Amino acid sequence: MHRTVLTKADGRKLYLYWQSSPPGEPGPDRIRGRAQAGHLRWHPLLAEWVIYAPERQGRTYHPPARACPFCPGGEVPFADFEVAVFENRFPALAARPERPPTLFVATAPAAGRAEVVVYTPAHRGSLATLSPDRRRLLARVWQDRYRELLALPEVRYVFPFENRGEAVGVTLTHPHGQIYAYPYVPPLPAREAAAFREAAVLQRLWRDLEAYRVAARPGLLAFVPPFARYPYEVWVAPEEPHPGPWTFTDAELDAFADLLGEVVARLDALFDRPMPYVMAFHAAPKGVDRFHFHVEFQPRLRARDRLKYLAGTELGAGAFTVDVLPEEAAQALREVRR
Ligand SMILES: [Zn+2]
Repeated sequence: MHRTVLTKADGRKLYLYWQSSPPGEPGPDRIRGRAQAGHLRWHPLLAEWVIYAPERQGRTYHPPARACPFCPGGEVPFADFEVAVFENRFPALAARPERPPTLFVATAPAAGRAEVVVYTPAHRGSLATLSPDRRRLLARVWQDRYRELLALPEVRYVFPFENRGEAVGVTLTHPHGQIYAYPYVPPLPAREAAAFREAAVLQRLWRDLEAYRVAARPGLLAFVPPFARYPYEVWVAPEEPHPGPWTFTDAELDAFADLLGEVVARLDALFDRPMPYVMAFHAAPKGVDRFHFHVEFQPRLRARDRLKYLAGTELGAGAFTVDVLPEEAAQALREVRR
């Protein structure tokens, strides 16, 4: 993998990654004007930070395809590229956030990074339709971003994710993901880290996983967790407990990339339409060794025309209800024709 780092006209970093053809000469950098990141406020009942980013209200909302900022010549001012990463123009977290206000609850600067990962210059597609080579390059890009962002002194947790589909509020359809680098460990990975401190929770699952298996590659599994909180939820994990993809070998990175592509293809085939989902990478917090990296796909369709909405019990009480049994979801995903 090759990489070059550029600085955009408004000072944001742009990283270009490629396997075969280096980028040519840059054209004019038309998209500029970064918003300032906001601040954090402590929620004293839930004991967690809330991120305030008032300037995000001005961000691009459903632009027409010809105005897509992620197509070549937009945020990436090159006629062609393979995978591109750049700092979000409307960041929730950034290197130089605003000064936090003084309140009767704790506040802190929203220090960190918010990056956009553009998977391909092609406006249409998905993790499932990328070429195997491009997906494998993308896996190396995630590995590189983990290493670089975890090395920043203010960063304690790095979180690559993808929101896909209008059902989860996606405003730009060009295939892309995001990475947030937080100055603290967010609640869900913190709770998972506490579980892994107690026991090798995921490795214990492997013994009884047959009914939950969706697909496999050497050393990696895709499965529906027997305790899934979403219909057709799928996790992808290495069999051995890696803290994050930064300890994967090249062969494991390739298998990981292939398996992500297969999972998305199976989710899309299930109802014969692109599955809206949140894809969340859960790796170890900085400095934590006992963690078992996994990717969680949280799909939002429970039937072809029925969205799973998070409502009263999930949002108001944090208690999930699910209509589809995990073993039945696994069987459907395993047997779907694609
Ligand atoms: Zn586009």
